[in-house]
Amino acid sequence: MREIHHFIDGQSKKAQTGRFQNVYDPSTGKVQALVELASADFLAEAVAGAKAAQPAWAATNPQKRARVMFAFKALLERDMEDLARLLSSEHGKTVADAKGDIQRGLEVIEFACGIPHLLKGEFTEGAGPGIDMYSMRQPLGVVAGITPFNFPAMIPMWMFGVAIACGNAFICKPSEKDPSVPIRLGELLKEAGLPDGIYQVVNGDKVVVDAILEHPDVKAVSFVGSSAVAEYIYAKGATYGKRVQAMGGAKNHAIILPDADLDQVTNDLIGAGYGSAGERCMAISVAVPVTDKVADALIARLKPRVEALKVGPSLDPEVDYGPLISREHRQNVINWIDKSVQEGAELVVDGRTVSFQGYEDGFYLGGSLIDRVTPTMESYKTEIFGPVLQIARAEDFDSAIALPNAHQYGNGTAIYTRNGRAAREFASRVEVGMVGINVPIPVPLAYHSFGGWKRSAFGDANQHGTEGVRFFTKVKTVTARWPEGAGAAEFVIPTMK
Ligand code: NAD
Repeated sequence: MREIHHFIDGQSKKAQTGRFQNVYDPSTGKVQALVELASADFLAEAVAGAKAAQPAWAATNPQKRARVMFAFKALLERDMEDLARLLSSEHGKTVADAKGDIQRGLEVIEFACGIPHLLKGEFTEGAGPGIDMYSMRQPLGVVAGITPFNFPAMIPMWMFGVAIACGNAFICKPSEKDPSVPIRLGELLKEAGLPDGIYQVVNGDKVVVDAILEHPDVKAVSFVGSSAVAEYIYAKGATYGKRVQAMGGAKNHAIILPDADLDQVTNDLIGAGYGSAGERCMAISVAVPVTDKVADALIARLKPRVEALKVGPSLDPEVDYGPLISREHRQNVINWIDKSVQEGAELVVDGRTVSFQGYEDGFYLGGSLIDRVTPTMESYKTEIFGPVLQIARAEDFDSAIALPNAHQYGNGTAIYTRNGRAAREFASRVEVGMVGINVPIPVPLAYHSFGGWKRSAFGDANQHGTEGVRFFTKVKTVTARWPEGAGAAEFVIPTMK
């Protein structure tokens, strides 16, 4: 069986722990490789290599660091097809969707190409007699990223694109479910001219995560994954004195006002609800039609479209979406559909049983559509993370906006309307971090910042954009006086009189 190891100091390395985890091909349900799970000692070796390499990288002028990013971007474009196929084979998303995953990461690399400009500090000439004051942004040293299975290219690049351009060394701990792409990215970074040790990939489970959190030389931890783990990472990282940003789960509502274009809404809900089998933190998982009339008209349009969704192997260019990530997760999603029926919701389209000749063991699920979901149901409160769209009917604008506002998660949301005033009020009042107005998946572009509210994000800095630069650097402010003669000792705090 093929083994997947780690990428340390510019090359593949074994940790020799004897601990492995299966990596599946979700389309066939078969094990395609074994990923080695590293130990705390191995993590410490990776950190030591990163720590040794980082000062020279930080001392490399930002323009030269940017040139490595430019070269890396060109390599991503060169290898896009191969990377997408590799990603698709471990994750199960279609190749077209895998290209989107890589492209969204590549856009953060493009953003990081502007690092000389982004790192410029502030300067005040003449802050006092003969005194100038200036600030600079310096890298933190060795930083780490812990990433989820659902965007194995984009999310590592959200983090290391900015972190490395800022002059840090980066330890990547990918999801053990689809670990190959982050290693391949390391090979491309090396080809682009990145010095060895600046990007290290350590595969593993909780053992490595805890070792990262406890290691004194890891100065910051960026995490994306489920909320329970995000909260754990945030609390434990803070205990060990680290800077932590930890993005968590989601339940994203789309509010549909009576004046919305229902054909557009239907198209958007199909794409945003079922694309990538619903395994996106910005998937629309709850549609909130305002008035029963709108709900009935919307369901009449959605039902045939959900029934017609084409599910199949991820490498088949004809399918709308592929399998889920694992057999366990597939069963979990089925359990939530069962639960919503037990709780009194109405299953309009049942996607629980689907099977294809030759792929009987694949982790497939058809699309499900569930109506009359209410806020007290457990299946509403929880992130299902599958090809399931729930409908929670609302009477008016106020009861509609109350749903995302009261929900534990606050990652993304959308409103569909032709009324600018209603949209503006929604954007202002909604307790959610990323808002779409007639846009279903409002993922901010690389030069803005990505982050949710409430239990969708712990910590105070978003991913990428200028917030990312702030997260991966620390500010130093210098006050400089070049006096003409010696001054007197001053015993009171200096102020500007
Ligand atoms: P996950 O929390 O299971 O795993 C994420 C990472 O944490 C992995 O690297 C994993 O190895 C590690 N991990 C898992 N359990 C751990 C534990 N007990 N202790 C320490 N480390 C642990 O998440 P996942 O299933 O890979 O990803 C799906 C989740 O990620 C969903 O909840 C989704 O909403 C969320 N997500 C959020 C965003 C966002 O930006 N808010 C983006 C993508 C995915």
